[in-house]
Amino acid sequence: MFAPTSGFLLDNAARAMAAAFPKATPERVAAALDQVFVLADQSWEATRSTVSFRSNIAASACKAGCGWCCHQQVGVSVPEAIRIAVHIRALPSAEASAMAERVRGLDDQTNGLATSRRAAGKQPCAFLVEGACSIYTVRPLRCRGLHSTDMSFCVASFNDPDSVKAGLELGTIRPVFLGAPQHVYDQALNGVLKALHFAGIADYGLELTAAVRELLDQPKRMAAWLKQRAAPKSAALVPDPGADLRGQFK
Ligand code: SF4
Repeated sequence: MFAPTSGFLLDNAARAMAAAFPKATPERVAAALDQVFVLADQSWEATRSTVSFRSNIAASACKAGCGWCCHQQVGVSVPEAIRIAVHIRALPSAEASAMAERVRGLDDQTNGLATSRRAAGKQPCAFLVEGACSIYTVRPLRCRGLHSTDMSFCVASFNDPDSVKAGLELGTIRPVFLGAPQHVYDQALNGVLKALHFAGIADYGLELTAAVRELLDQPKRMAAWLKQRAAPKSAALVPDPGADLRGQFK
């Protein structure tokens, strides 16, 4: 399988996302982002199926039912937040209402928390249900790129994030997350941001829970964000943009 270069993926992701503009609607943005997801997922599959990757890189320990890493702040772009809101609004009403309630309940507890305090609170993502991501097909790019080679690190990070962070800084603990998928999905995200830039849309760094809550509570804000008639509320922005969007894991 052909493993594309990062520049190729970035440019193609930007081209796929740009198809939603200039007459962007939430539905057009959702369809364009789905194409970005396909490109990025195929790129990662192609990368990990190469002989050199399989013979030199430790295997991913991630598996269905393991959600240790889904207890921290997740950063998303405007199209990703819109994609998730469109997905939830299309669910059967009882399922959509239950999901929206989980989002509101989590946001009430985590809104505005710095990355480290969010991780210390050990609150599961609102979309984590019985150990699995309930929005798997539209999950954020940052989530797609996180692959651990050692579940015990993920468990330790959940149980004692401060100690793991200190160990990483001192070099006594080695990071266990694969760089290759992070790179692939970061390139796809950069393509999305590039398309936003050329469409004249601000590339806000949004906090997943708060941003999706805003769009579920006020659906008209999806179009307003895309037309630059309204900015996300400050509560929806990543609280400490200096920190990485995936907290202590990078
Ligand atoms: S969106 Fe899904 S994959 Fe990402 S943190 Fe939440 S449950 Fe985990």
